[in-house]
Amino acid sequence: MAVQLYKHSSDAVREVKNIFCVGRNYGEHALELGNAVPTEPMIFGKSTHAAIAADGDIQLPAGSTDIHHELEVVLWISRDYEPGIQVADITGGIALGLDLTDREAQNRLKAKGHPWEFAKGFRHSAVLTSFYTLRPEEWESALATPFSLTLVESEGMRTAQVGRMAEMIFSLQTLVDFVGRRFDLRPGDVLYSGTPAGVGPLTDGVEAHLRFGDATWGVCRFGLAP
Ligand code: ZN
Repeated sequence: MAVQLYKHSSDAVREVKNIFCVGRNYGEHALELGNAVPTEPMIFGKSTHAAIAADGDIQLPAGSTDIHHELEVVLWISRDYEPGIQVADITGGIALGLDLTDREAQNRLKAKGHPWEFAKGFRHSAVLTSFYTLRPEEWESALATPFSLTLVESEGMRTAQVGRMAEMIFSLQTLVDFVGRRFDLRPGDVLYSGTPAGVGPLTDGVEAHLRFGDATWGVCRFGLAP
């Protein structure tokens, strides 16, 4: 697979229009948090202030103690949605992203039946690598390619999450149609496609390596804001 750079992460962060996300799109991840496997996509959003490049230092909200990493494949929408459009045609490029989640706050809000915005949409909660184009014939191998998150902590290095797009509950095509019909999708929108199992808290000073197959697409280091 010879993916080509489509958009640098810093340009993507400046140009992003709407951030759509899907929850519980990998069975093992739904179960690890004690949630049922959904019967239709569960969509939420983040403000554009959440977007930040997966490059260098990233500050997490001061005082937070339970910010989880959720590694996800992210689509860059480059054409207007219309019924019948193929995911390969509406997508300009794919990136890896981290849908950062304040798990403590999310659990508190879920228990009350309240919206998740506070737990999901905070500043720097939508981390993005650069975007890469796939030629039509490259999509199939991309779906089978493992993407991973490796964390370098003081105790050493470990691979926290590995997933393959082929393991999604709802395919990218299903997600594009579901979001497009309801909300519309237009150039500059991004779609986080859900996280595989292995989510967990980011420790202060941890370095995160986001890899697609053998290629490193982003490296960033997390620390708490003062
Ligand atoms: Zn997520």
